[in-house]
This record gives sequence, structure tokens and C-alpha cells, in this order.
Amino acid sequence: MSDSWRFRVRWSRAIALVDMNAFFASIEQLDFPELRDRPVAVTNGALGTCIITCSYEARRFGVHTGMRLREARRLCPGLVQRSARPQRYAEISTRIMDLLTTITPDLEVFSVDEAFLDFTHCQELGSPVALARRAQDLILRETGLPCSVGLSGDKTTAKYAAKLKKPRGFVVIPPWEARIRLSPVPVTELCGIKNGIGSFLAARGVHTCGEMARLPPSVLTRRFGPPGLRYWLMAQGADPDPVQPSDPRPPRTLGHGKVTPPGTTERELLAVYFLHMIEKLAARLRAHNLEAQNFRFATYSRTTTCEAVHRLAVATNDASVLRPYVTRFLNDVWTGQGVDRIHVLALDPRACGRQADLWNAPDPRRARLNAAVDAINHRFGPWSVHPAALLERSPSPDVIAPAWRPRGVHRSV
Ligand SMILES: [Mg+2]
Repeated sequence: MSDSWRFRVRWSRAIALVDMNAFFASIEQLDFPELRDRPVAVTNGALGTCIITCSYEARRFGVHTGMRLREARRLCPGLVQRSARPQRYAEISTRIMDLLTTITPDLEVFSVDEAFLDFTHCQELGSPVALARRAQDLILRETGLPCSVGLSGDKTTAKYAAKLKKPRGFVVIPPWEARIRLSPVPVTELCGIKNGIGSFLAARGVHTCGEMARLPPSVLTRRFGPPGLRYWLMAQGADPDPVQPSDPRPPRTLGHGKVTPPGTTERELLAVYFLHMIEKLAARLRAHNLEAQNFRFATYSRTTTCEAVHRLAVATNDASVLRPYVTRFLNDVWTGQGVDRIHVLALDPRACGRQADLWNAPDPRRARLNAAVDAINHRFGPWSVHPAALLERSPSPDVIAPAWRPRGVHRSV
């Protein structure tokens, strides 16, 4: 490389984004060799109609994430449908994140298939370019899965670089070139600058990153607060946002949701869905020694949301305490219209037993029963033991939420 001298100088900051290519579909092709080189689409269960992700062979036919299966089959008659296996994807993701921390401990898990790596403080071990290459090679060698890497001096430019070339892309934008390279790029191409911000900027004559410099940053901070300054800097290739290793504190909220058959109006069916979700939520609270006092129940359809917050007398992680609220919610809050999705959220999870309440002490027998059920399910697999009411629970599978993380309370599918 004629300009390799550029990569020998020490970078003021060096941040890479590692982005797995067609992650779920690639895992299907890895685990099932007969699927290699074939167009594969992953859906949420065998009944899923929407494509979660698809292999590059399918993308060549114009198939893409979010497309309806029926339409995809029209474009690509040989398309192979696979049901998502979230447990397997989570397992591989955890392994990838573990591999990456052997290169730098400064790692932020951005999603199930993306991570930011900060090489700023390990440049003695190799140039940022060499370290980024090492990350890409390590993942391919150890897992057999392809990824794209973007490398720059800040998160936003690294993320932009990573999406420029897929699959197996490797794009370097040295920090001193970031401003000029981003200059012609539309601001809405940057991760985190959505259409709302885009139209605010467009109304002020700012369409590209380069045009942002003409706008005083105060225009953005007045409208968006402190994040406004970040948007302004992002467009100049100087996103100040640090790579943040995962936070060990309890999460602000913890929830479980489920997509129902579209337009579900059957009360008993919705009750089963809710009971299923509160079992999962309670088990997850217990697994992390958390409890909560405020729980939000919600049903969603395309046009309406019914929601209510139930405040309990005392914090709990016992699903049997929550069960009566399902009936109460469906009777008093849900207005009877068709439901597409339900959700239960613990609004204030906190470490167990912080506020011992003499008059509302939880039943010790319930706690022992829950501990026994958790132990059995841990040993024999999820749902080996469960309430009889859930015999009719939804056959639709678990999904990986955007908040999924390889460690701690967000390690759940
Ligand atoms: Mg990806």
C-alpha cells in the first residue's frame, strides 16, 4: 500500500465497528451446510411472514429484511425459509464478543451482531488497521462467520465506514480524513440522525454533513438539547460519544413482549399470552436477584394502544402475584379491539430485599417453590415446569430484542 505511512502514526482516537454480515442467515448456512450458496430467509417461527434477515444469495434477487415472505418468493422462487433460533444466535454472539475482548477490553456491544472496539489505548500492540484486521480474521477463523469492519476515529464515522462495503468489507477512514470524507454524505445516512432531525436540518438548508458546519451549533442545542451538539460534531467526523463497556447496574426497566396473531380479540388467548410473559419476566427478575413494584401491561394494534400501570403493595418477582392483574387489565383497560402485540414491563427493577416490609413480607413457601422451578428449568431447559394455564401458550418462538446483551439482565431471548 503506497500510503501505508499514514497508518503508522499514532491515532488520537481509534474506533472500529464490527458488523456481522447477514448474521442469522449466516449461522443457518454455517450449521446446515446444505444451505450454503443458497438463498435463505430467516423468519420468526415457521408461521412468520416477515423476513428478519436473509443471505446474500437471496439479496441478489432483491430480497431484503422486513420484506413479506410472499413477495420474496415471487422475486426468488428458490428461497429457503428457516425459523429463527434465537438461543443459538445469542450463544454465537456471546462467543464473538468474548473473542473481541481478547483484542481490546474497551468494547461496547451495540446489538446482537455489532460491537464498537476502542483501540486508542492499545496501539502499542499494533496499528489500529492491524488490530481491526485481527478482529475480522479472528471472528472468521474461530466461528466461520463473515463480518464487515469500519475503522475511524469516532463511532459515527466507523459505523458509516462499516456499511460502505458488505459482505466482508474493510473500510478505513483515518480520523484526519473523516470530515472531508463525510462532507458529501447526506446527514440522514449517519446512525442516530433520523428523519425528524433530518427534516429539521433540511428546513435550514443542511442536507449533507459538509453543510452542517455552516449552521451554528446553538441552533441544534436549542432544539435538541445537549444531543444537538453531538449531531453537529457527528457530521464533522468528530462524534465525541465514548465506547461504553456494558453497564453492570440494574436496568431501568425489564420487559417481555410477544407478537400475537394479527387482530386477536379472543380474551382467553390474550390472557394466556400475558400469563406467559409474566412468567418469563418474573423468572428473569429472579435470575438476577431483582424485584419490582410497578408493572406496565399493554396491548398494541396498528392504531391503538391500551396500557395501564399496576402498582403492587410490595415489590415482587413472583408471577402468581401478578396473575390477578392480567384479568384486571383485560377486563378494565383493554377495550376489546384486535391486538397485534402484547407487552409486560417491570418499571422499577431493583435488588431484592432492599425494603423489607414486616406487614407485607412475601410468602417464604412461594419463594422456595419458585427457586425449585427455576432450578429444574435451568437443568432441563426452559418451560420444563410451568403453570398449567400455559399449556395453551403461543407456539410462536422467542425473539432477540434490540436490547439483547451477552451479559447480565439483558441476556434473554
Ligand atoms: Mg449486521
